[in-house]
Amino acid sequence: MTESSTPGHSLRTQIALVFGTLVVALSVLLSVGFGEVLKQRIQRDAGASLQGVADNTAALLANGLFDRVREVQVLASSEVLWRNGLEAPEVIHMLARQQAIHPQSLWLGVADAQGIVRAASGNMLVGQNVSERPWFQAGIQNAHVGDVHPAKLLESLLPPSRNGDPYRFVDFSAPIRIGPTTVGVLGVHGYWEWINEMIQTLMPAAAHAQQLEVFIFDKAGQLIHAPAEQQALLQKLGQTLPDPSFARVPADAQNPGTPPVLRWVDDKKYLTAHTRMHARNAESDLGWHIVARMPVDIAFAEAEQAVQRALLGGLVAALIAAFLAWLAARRLSEDLDALARAARDLEAGKPGAEIPATQSSREVRRLSWALRRMTHRLLAANEAMEAQVQLRTQQLEDANRELGLQARSDPLTGLLNRRGFDAQMNYALALARRSGRPLSLITVDVDHFKRINDTHGHDVGDEVLQRLAHTLAQRLRDSDVVARLGGEEFAALLPDTDLDGARAIAQTLVDAQAALTDPVVGRITVSAGVSTLRGADDTAQRLMRRGDEALYEAKGQGRNRVVVQG
Ligand code: GH3
Ligand code: MG
Ligand code: MG
Repeated sequence: MTESSTPGHSLRTQIALVFGTLVVALSVLLSVGFGEVLKQRIQRDAGASLQGVADNTAALLANGLFDRVREVQVLASSEVLWRNGLEAPEVIHMLARQQAIHPQSLWLGVADAQGIVRAASGNMLVGQNVSERPWFQAGIQNAHVGDVHPAKLLESLLPPSRNGDPYRFVDFSAPIRIGPTTVGVLGVHGYWEWINEMIQTLMPAAAHAQQLEVFIFDKAGQLIHAPAEQQALLQKLGQTLPDPSFARVPADAQNPGTPPVLRWVDDKKYLTAHTRMHARNAESDLGWHIVARMPVDIAFAEAEQAVQRALLGGLVAALIAAFLAWLAARRLSEDLDALARAARDLEAGKPGAEIPATQSSREVRRLSWALRRMTHRLLAANEAMEAQVQLRTQQLEDANRELGLQARSDPLTGLLNRRGFDAQMNYALALARRSGRPLSLITVDVDHFKRINDTHGHDVGDEVLQRLAHTLAQRLRDSDVVARLGGEEFAALLPDTDLDGARAIAQTLVDAQAALTDPVVGRITVSAGVSTLRGADDTAQRLMRRGDEALYEAKGQGRNRVVVQG
């Protein structure tokens, strides 16, 4: 397996993954938490403004009802009503004027104590008996406000309503008294649409878009007012006051005062604010419930959006952070890669390879500097070691050569010794056999050498041997092999020389020696035996033995001579 195929993720992927996951998790956690807080605040604000609509509507209605009751009371106490009789023209005039001030008052009339209508706006119902009507029965006792109800006697007399629905009224009535005596009742049928207009003035500008709607339920929880498009639907579905537990259950344990989310009969969820109408006086206290609602998805849309935006922001931040981490990790891993590559090149001995100077971080820079110093030192040490090895090898080779030379040469004379001579003999023999050319051997021994030693000492004997060796070497050819075989015995191997040639050379040597006078010991003679190679089957031993025999023969014949053995 090569380094480049090493399994496992790269450093940059690992860092980017770990860091990215961490940042994403953290930012999701934070933004969800932050979003939740934001969501709760927005929901609380939405709930508070919805509650505000309900509360304001209740207050406005309470004031409106109170004002109307007071008006009717004040009107009933007017002397004009009875001074000239209940049906006098000024009574009719006053009723008409009052209707002009309040066009929503669809009918104003005066009934006598027996319940017979004596005067009325537009002369409607004059002469009719209203003694059974609740407004009359209550109004003869005291000032009265009657809950909303459909028109009965008036329905046929009035022009069709604007939206085509049946007329519905809120009745106001008050007794007409002369001193302690009650002489009649002043009654007003207020057009219910008046309530709707009042509510509309309170609605925020965005109410329609937000589907903010206000409902009124009576004391018994029956729906008495709904926005036009809801009225028929909810009445058909039998919607009553949404949740009787309004008063008992805190809307939201975490956010006290926040209106609850309730399921209405149309099976949709609404943020639902409720308030009871607090009447200004006993007469106008109808016990109404004012309910404002808004579809929950619209009410909380902004909150959901805030959460989503926070989440998105967190994710984008996380992605950017992960990308930055990846970039930093890439710089680091590129540097580490470069270091690994350089180390590989150095290992492979690539020329010019060097640990690069890296920049990604202080630690990596330190690492690269340390590696540079280390490789420089290692390379220098390696070079020094190689030089040392080379030197030692050279010395060893020299010593070996020297040893070889010593093993093959004679220390006293510098000629080959017996071992060296044998090696040369084998080589010359092989050469002669192959070429078929002659090879001859001269064996030389100093005559009566013992005497020299005895007479002049061993050291002088040594010097004599050295001089003799020198003479032999000088007189023979370079291609001849001269050796000291031991003691005072020498041998010369003559390639390309036949027996006659060898004999002649041996004779020259013997004669030349005999003619010399040694400066210390005087005349010294030598004897020589000559032998030559006899065909390809002949051996070195036989050649040497024949030479020895010839030498022995020469000694026997009186020394200082040459004997040939052939
Ligand atoms: P011959 O004529 O029969 O050869 O008589 P020789 O005295 O030369 O023969 P022998 O073999 O009896 O004596 C050889 C002597 O050579 C004996 C020994 O003391 C001497 N000798 C052998 N090697 C050395 C050497 O390296 N140096 C010296 N100085 N003398 C040596
Ligand atoms: Mg000898
Ligand atoms: Mg001798």
